[in-house]
Amino acid sequence: MQVVIIGAGIVGASLSFAVSQLGGTVTVIDAHGPATGATGQSFGWVNASFYADTPHFALRAEGIASYRRLGRVLNTKSIAWSGCLCWEETGEAFERQANDLIALGYSVKEVSGAEFQALEPHVVAPKRALHFRDEAAVDAVELTAALLSASNARVITGCRVDGIETKNGKVAGVRTVGGIVPADCVIIAGGVGSTELLAPFGVDLPMLKRPGLIMRSRPVAPALNHVLVAPQQEFRQLPSGHILAPTIASHQSDNSEHIETRPDVLADMALKRLIALMPSIDLEWGQVSLAQRPVPQDGMPVVGACGPEGMFTAVMHSGVTLAPIVAETLAQEVMGHPLSSQHAELISHYRHDRFQSDHSHSPT
Ligand SMILES: Cc1cc2nc3c(=O)[nH]c(=O)nc-3n(C[C@H](O)[C@H](O)[C@H](O)COP(=O)(O)OP(=O)(O)OC[C@H]3O[C@@H](n4cnc5c(N)ncnc54)[C@H](O)[C@@H]3O)c2cc1C
Repeated sequence: MQVVIIGAGIVGASLSFAVSQLGGTVTVIDAHGPATGATGQSFGWVNASFYADTPHFALRAEGIASYRRLGRVLNTKSIAWSGCLCWEETGEAFERQANDLIALGYSVKEVSGAEFQALEPHVVAPKRALHFRDEAAVDAVELTAALLSASNARVITGCRVDGIETKNGKVAGVRTVGGIVPADCVIIAGGVGSTELLAPFGVDLPMLKRPGLIMRSRPVAPALNHVLVAPQQEFRQLPSGHILAPTIASHQSDNSEHIETRPDVLADMALKRLIALMPSIDLEWGQVSLAQRPVPQDGMPVVGACGPEGMFTAVMHSGVTLAPIVAETLAQEVMGHPLSSQHAELISHYRHDRFQSDHSHSPT
């Protein structure tokens, strides 16, 4: 089976690996290069502590389990099982967050200020925090490269896909510079670029505008051990020593459609928050980068077959957390294997038809 995947971000690369594991022959095509979209600017926190509802929690929790499986078969140092310390909420909201997660069966431990200090000696300790021991931090750029390499995919970069060709109502290939790359199946994993690839087939994928900025400090000596979620500020340290932090306060719940403040000013503001949290570390920021988060209109992933026979899509925010579980599931569908009842239930909430009015068609 010849599978063409449009997009070499973490989602496309995860699909490439999963499809090749099932015996598919994969070509990945990207308008720029691997991990040059949202993936390259991701915070890389793999978690289920941030979720919208019970099915979304279940998908994210299985995302973590899928990372465990991936870590066993892929030779990579890009997945760090650091755990997370979270003290974003206070008062009743803190209790509620802990109790809701415990009721869902999540691994949550409340730590005191003293326990926190022992775990993170360089951070000003809150009175208490939640410890999510099963969460991870992923170097999404490195993981994307590792997945592409392990899948033996043919990777075409710097080449935009201009459209998808069909013959007799079935996918036949993708149009790019110089002609058509033939395919039995096409998976659209183009992040924010996916909508325009789907539109000619009457498949409407409305997306929110969700720009995100991320800041990297200049490298400092090893200081942090976990993903850290303080009120208004997430941060973690990369193995290279850089501290990585979204610049927008309360990044997870941010709903802004536009960035109204200059990136350098936002980076200065985030740096101030970080210095207050880590006064003993001499911090400066070195780089701040903008990316468009691929967020479907209702905030939830869109996964599965849509449009003509042989066309599939996978578009989502929290794509680092979700890429391996979505890829495991969608690869089965692409290769024509039946889904396990667990995979079928997990993914049933995220089909495209929730957006669809009745006007899909196949262009000739
Ligand atoms: C600041 C920030 C912080 C984040 N933090 C987290 C986090 O902590 N945890 C988490 O789980 N998620 C996080 N996310 C979200 C996560 O990074 C994204 O959901 C994920 O990277 C999406 O991956 P993707 O492969 O779908 O898209 P992308 O990485 O955007 O890749 C899509 C690719 O498709 C290519 N493409 C598009 N159209 C075409 C075309 N016509 N032809 C050829 N190629 C095309 C693009 O060039 C691009 O390389 C964050 C995102 C941002 C921006």
